[in-house]
Amino acid sequence: MWILGIDTSCDDTGVGVVRDDRVVSNRVASQTLLHQRHGGVVPELASREHTRVIDPLVQTALQEAGISVHDLDLVAATKGPGLIGALLVGYTYGKGLAFALDKPFVAVHHLEGHLYAALAEHPEVTPPFLALVASGGHTHLFEVRAWGQYQLLGATMDDAAGEAFDKVARLLGLGYPGGPEIERLAREGNPQSVPLSLPLKDQSGLAFSFSGLKTAVARALEKGYARADIAAAFQRVAVEHLASVVVRAAKSHGHSTLLVAGGVAQNSALRARLQAAGLRLLFPPPGLATDNGAMIALAAGHTWRGQGSALQVPAQPYLPLTMDEPTC
Ligand code: ATP
Ligand code: FE
Repeated sequence: MWILGIDTSCDDTGVGVVRDDRVVSNRVASQTLLHQRHGGVVPELASREHTRVIDPLVQTALQEAGISVHDLDLVAATKGPGLIGALLVGYTYGKGLAFALDKPFVAVHHLEGHLYAALAEHPEVTPPFLALVASGGHTHLFEVRAWGQYQLLGATMDDAAGEAFDKVARLLGLGYPGGPEIERLAREGNPQSVPLSLPLKDQSGLAFSFSGLKTAVARALEKGYARADIAAAFQRVAVEHLASVVVRAAKSHGHSTLLVAGGVAQNSALRARLQAAGLRLLFPPPGLATDNGAMIALAAGHTWRGQGSALQVPAQPYLPLTMDEPTC
């Protein structure tokens, strides 16, 4: 089955083509340079750029896959959550294309896309397992009970993990996105030389928090610690926080398999720390951790039950994945 997947939830236009769980093309048009000089994503600029590039990007992805638009069996696009103006571009394009081709359209939850990206190289894995989504907008720990059935075990009380990397990078005068920049600078620093305390270290629950850590980084900068040492210490504590909560959840809920998704899953210190915990780990392959269209096509393939989504369902900027999740 040939599936086209589209993601325009934030500042990257992602278009992917997947055939039977195999990624055949994955094209991302990054808007990083466009937004960099504004110090953050400007929603209106993001929507306009998505509008400008979506059609040529779809043509390129189809060409790379070696198929015509008429060979597609399904068209999938992100329904939410995300920036509404940005979402609407890909969602409306996908619906229009499916309608014109008389093919089914599948509306996909963005976080489900991130989850299925981590399964791209592990088709043999079946639920139940634990899943951590650590991205620019989410730090959510789920129990995946069955395909499409999720229970939220813990979430961030304030900033998301990726957001913390981005904010600390900005404090340190580094570029956006902050995660890779911090990771690079951290290699030159001593992670033990700046005293930063572990967030929520006495909690018995499974919550995450990053805003206190970000403030502690600002104080350390004022005190004159070296930037590389601060980056290394921040990364050590952020990784330890994520890992300690996740490992505790694995023990208390009896799981030995952990899926890690979202941009922060690319962090090699996090990967090393989790590897040391003795869990079976599933990470997204290169190119599938941050936003992309292939992950949306993969999610559509996994959740496809022969029935397309209704075309009149609107895009949703706030869209919880589970019933127990706060909506904003
Ligand atoms: P959401 O999916 O919650 O809407 P998003 O789509 O913006 O958010 P992603 O594209 O999954 O998020 O990930 C981007 C985030 O991942 C950024 O905050 C970025 O700093 C972070 N990130 C990317 N690479 C790394 C890395 N190597 N280490 C830590 N963080 C990273
Ligand atoms: Fe995302």
